Amino acid sequence: MMTNTTPSAKALVPFVSVDHMMKLVHHIGIEEMLRGIADYIETDFKRWELFDKTPRVASHSDTGVIELMPTSDGDVYGFKYVNGHPSNTADGLQTVTAFGLLADVATGYPVLLSEMTLLTALRTAATSALVARVLAPKGSRVMAMIGNGTQSEFQSLAMKTIAGIDEVRLYDIDPAATAKCAANLAGQGLKVVSCTSAQDAMLGAQIITTCTADKQYATILTDNMVGAGVHINAIGGDCPGKTELAPAILHRSEIFVEYPEQTRIEGEIQQVAADHPVTEFWKVLTGQAKGRRDDQQITLFDSVGFAIEDFSALRYVRDQIAGTGLFHPLDLLADPDDPRDLFGMLQRAKA
Ligand code: NAD
Repeated sequence: MMTNTTPSAKALVPFVSVDHMMKLVHHIGIEEMLRGIADYIETDFKRWELFDKTPRVASHSDTGVIELMPTSDGDVYGFKYVNGHPSNTADGLQTVTAFGLLADVATGYPVLLSEMTLLTALRTAATSALVARVLAPKGSRVMAMIGNGTQSEFQSLAMKTIAGIDEVRLYDIDPAATAKCAANLAGQGLKVVSCTSAQDAMLGAQIITTCTADKQYATILTDNMVGAGVHINAIGGDCPGKTELAPAILHRSEIFVEYPEQTRIEGEIQQVAADHPVTEFWKVLTGQAKGRRDDQQITLFDSVGFAIEDFSALRYVRDQIAGTGLFHPLDLLADPDDPRDLFGMLQRAKA
């Protein structure tokens, strides 16, 4: 009689906890990790057409949203669970938390489970900076960072290491958030300027990042604030009814998106006609669409965050943890000796 109730190695799923993720970031180095994730995202964006794609599945409530973000490249399947609750910070909770999973398509067995709150900040920053490297005016050195919450330091460092900025100008309606961001960025190789208005933050900036959290149509940038030739990285508007830019800015900009089917529901382009022209960013990477045409054009990355970016980030983590011990083998999958004897395994566990 088989009595083994200990899972075999093939049923143990590597789990990367928050603690292990932090150790992994420090082991690799945050800027190296941002570059690595950006490379994986670029690779996956260049093979965009072979992925299964769907707008994320969102469950809305009065206080926020809970979303599932699935995709597959045919060999590996992945999904992320993520929430967005702008009022959470008032209760000492984060606006965004997440975890995610990769699975082997051939067997359906999970091959990685990971925290993704940190990883989402890293992948969002890596995506923003990859897009800015391609679309922002050549030689961009200064970024305005409007909204100095959770994402802001990650955004600033990614823009430094991937897009080449050397100055970040901070503004938040809450001066404590700006002070926190400035303190965290001290000694990271960026000139950091704390500003008292969004206009002030935008002085001399070639890249403008808006990353505020509010569950309503907000106007973080008005039309008269935006001069010719800048690149706008709008990442805070990522839900129905939640936007950051005055509609007039959209009409002056060339708009780049991740996955139009999702962005039309969630992005800044909720505010324009359903057939308003947009360019899918992956097509710029593959040479099928034009990026920035001239130095007068305003390029706008209407970012909402797409499943392939999470898939790429999880793939990167899976490749990096090998040999580091920075994961727990998780007893996640039942593993009866006889695959059809789940009940027998349960009975034997009683003994
Ligand atoms: P957070 O709550 O930690 O920080 C948001 C900051 O915005 C706060 O410091 C707040 O004071 C500030 N703010 C609010 N209104 C403002 C205004 N009018 N002007 C200036 N500052 C203002 O949130 P976070 O985790 O940094 O995320 C910010 C937003 O980005 C959220 O809406 C989140 O959903 C979104 N997000 C998008 C992506 C993506 O892939 N596009 C990824 C992660 C988060």
